[in-house]
Amino acid sequence: KLYNQVQDLKGSIRVYCRVRPFFPGQSNHLSAVENIEDGTITVNIPSKNGKGRRSFNFNKIFGPSATQAEVFLDMQPLVRSVLDGFNVCIFAYGQTGSGKTYTMTGPKEITEKSQGVNYRALSDLFLIADQRRDTVHYDVSVQMIEIYNEQVRDLLVTDGTNKRLEIRSSSQKGLSVPDASLVPVSSTIDVIELMNLGQRNRAVGATALNDRSSRSHSCLTVHVQGRDLASGAILRGCMHLVDLAGSERVDKSEATGDRLKEAQHINKSLSALGDVIASLAQKNSHVPYRNSKLTQLLQDSLGGQAKTLMFVHISPESDAIGETISTLKFAERVA
Ligand code: ADP
Ligand code: MG
Repeated sequence: KLYNQVQDLKGSIRVYCRVRPFFPGQSNHLSAVENIEDGTITVNIPSKNGKGRRSFNFNKIFGPSATQAEVFLDMQPLVRSVLDGFNVCIFAYGQTGSGKTYTMTGPKEITEKSQGVNYRALSDLFLIADQRRDTVHYDVSVQMIEIYNEQVRDLLVTDGTNKRLEIRSSSQKGLSVPDASLVPVSSTIDVIELMNLGQRNRAVGATALNDRSSRSHSCLTVHVQGRDLASGAILRGCMHLVDLAGSERVDKSEATGDRLKEAQHINKSLSALGDVIASLAQKNSHVPYRNSKLTQLLQDSLGGQAKTLMFVHISPESDAIGETISTLKFAERVA
């Protein structure tokens, strides 16, 4: 426990892991997860000569029964630091169906209890901003974009336009996509409306068989500006909440055409992200931000004083073990 806390204070990169529960009716399925204890998860690896096991250590591991509220509680200090001028990136990583969107947004029908990190983070920021209203005035605004096939798209358009956007990391206001809609928000209701708009725009062009959301990265960016009422000093912070594309490997012999192209783009951007975070974790002097749109987008918010949470998700089924192991290895590398 103490070790983890010290680790948390020392590094600016944290790695969390969450295991999705089995679906209802799936109860007699074999589980790939043998044990979860504090920061260690042990998985079963089927092999010819009986059972193999492997353990991985992370800052925090949430089992299948963890609630949305419990998960958020462990992220709250990180989220709140945005109000003190820190930049924060939170990534949900994992194969399709492992629970990334559940953690970040919630299930299909969202109730107050099942609200994900995005809603909870914004509500929490409004709560703290209100508590500090006698000393600081905060302005909060959000952007929501999608990266699909290395193209950036605005998810907060109201007129159905689908313009390709450019990433310009040197813009004065600290916006990396200055042409994406930037919408001021002052209440949780504003946020819910915007997220619904973003979800609707994301679904455009997707069919049941062709769920594009699993093959694009979506990023909700929260920009915060605080003005100290006494001194007039300005403090800026920003938080990126990223629901990454599914990390599963696509069988090269089966994928063709568009599907192959998508898979190659996803592969490239997730490995670019892994490379950037691993080189930050190792404190390398060269950090390869330029290798993907995703890492270019987040360049100012990864490294330096910024705080990063890589939140990996795994499916519990034993037949998902191949993807589970590669997810855990990805996480181990950036930890
Ligand atoms: P991903 O975004 O990684 O593809 P989803 O978040 O869509 O995965 O999760 C797949 C399914 O599992 C969804 O129906 C989702 O509601 C459900 N699910 C995921 N995680 C949980 C959880 N922790 N508790 C209950 N249901 C979950
Ligand atoms: Mg999803």
